[in-house]
Amino acid sequence: MLSRGRKRRAAAALFFLLLIAWAAAPWVAGASVPAAAWTAAETPKFIALTFDDGPRRSTTTALLDGLEARGVRATFFLIGKQLDHNEDLIRRMDAQGHQIGIHTYDHVSLTGLSRADFDAQVALTRQKLMAILGHDGFLLRPPYGAVDEAVRKNAGCPIILWSIDPEDWGDQNAAREVEHVVANARDGAIILLHDIFPASVEAALTIVDRLHAQGYLFVTVEELFAARHIPLEAGEVYREACP
Ligand SMILES: [Zn+2]
Repeated sequence: MLSRGRKRRAAAALFFLLLIAWAAAPWVAGASVPAAAWTAAETPKFIALTFDDGPRRSTTTALLDGLEARGVRATFFLIGKQLDHNEDLIRRMDAQGHQIGIHTYDHVSLTGLSRADFDAQVALTRQKLMAILGHDGFLLRPPYGAVDEAVRKNAGCPIILWSIDPEDWGDQNAAREVEHVVANARDGAIILLHDIFPASVEAALTIVDRLHAQGYLFVTVEELFAARHIPLEAGEVYREACP
């Protein structure tokens, strides 16, 4: 199981590196790989798993274990007030290559807030993450997907929403969530789950296995857009990177 996971991870990593090289230097691909050489079967399909409302020690740890065993990277939008006493988990996410974003300090809607109140939710969480990880570059996912002009203006980073939502907070039925996501999966999609529910962790890992079998590669949000040559810009709202 482990060696199969390692092989798969190594193959996925190599493939992704080649793809990044191709994306970064399209003239190289143009010179050496005729467009006609990319048959439908070979065209890579990318998809991003995103998790909101964490970290929660029990469920987030189980999820990180499962993603690590599968060689998969995801994106986590974290709650600022849950960072204390979970610093090791945040560092592990970062070290495993997952992308980290901000989901406010108290899980509040960001619309209608004063600049000071906005900063108390977003800038404060950003400062805490920078103190833990020693770098910036955190994307924003506003709770409830609530965005207005002020949120866009104050964000200071790209705003990432989603395109597949199995509403895992509802019945917390892993089998139903898996079927919803697999049925709606498409190249460039962004899946929304919450790593605070055991059923969502179970669903996420099954989704990875099912979509791996369909040829999907799981990447971070930043990698998803980079693969499509779509620049992410501060204050802009992104839901998916479909070709
Ligand atoms: Zn949320």
